[in-house]
Amino acid sequence: MPVLFLHWPTVWPLFKRWPASFNLVALSIGAVIPDLECPFLFAFVEDRWHARLFMHSLLGAFTLDLLLAVALTVWFVPPLLRWSEPRIANKRLFSFAGVDLRTHRTGMAALAGSALAGTVSHVLLDVLHHPYNPLTFPLSQYYGFNLVLFGDLTISGIIMQGGMLVLLTLMLHFWWWSPARKK
Ligand SMILES: [Zn+2]
Repeated sequence: MPVLFLHWPTVWPLFKRWPASFNLVALSIGAVIPDLECPFLFAFVEDRWHARLFMHSLLGAFTLDLLLAVALTVWFVPPLLRWSEPRIANKRLFSFAGVDLRTHRTGMAALAGSALAGTVSHVLLDVLHHPYNPLTFPLSQYYGFNLVLFGDLTISGIIMQGGMLVLLTLMLHFWWWSPARKK
């Protein structure tokens, strides 16, 4: 998906529904991490659709993508949260669906499972509106596999991104308006 954050509403509902079993940060990072390879590949391909390789494969989603998402969740985000906490006056921003993200902790299994849900959802979602999907890397004969809706990139792009935008709006509503959960 060209607009990165539109991958979030595919996985955030998991956290909204089962906050004890999922890690919102790992879900969010996992859902965007495959696109990390795109800027590096732009120089080697003829059009933007082809700037996707290992990180957009199922193999990548279960290995490199997963590792990166877990590492960033464990080592990068906690210091970032500690740094930003005193600088953000409205503490409501740290709560999603009534869960305080500053204190929300999950075990390693939930964290890794969340990261994996994010990475796998990303590569599968892309198949619905991308013509070139290295999902089966290294079996390159299947890279042309796609489920582009109505066989039309423009229409499928509008439907997918429009749908995700609506879902994201709904999710942001929960982020902002859900009352705190009772302890
Ligand atoms: Zn992608």
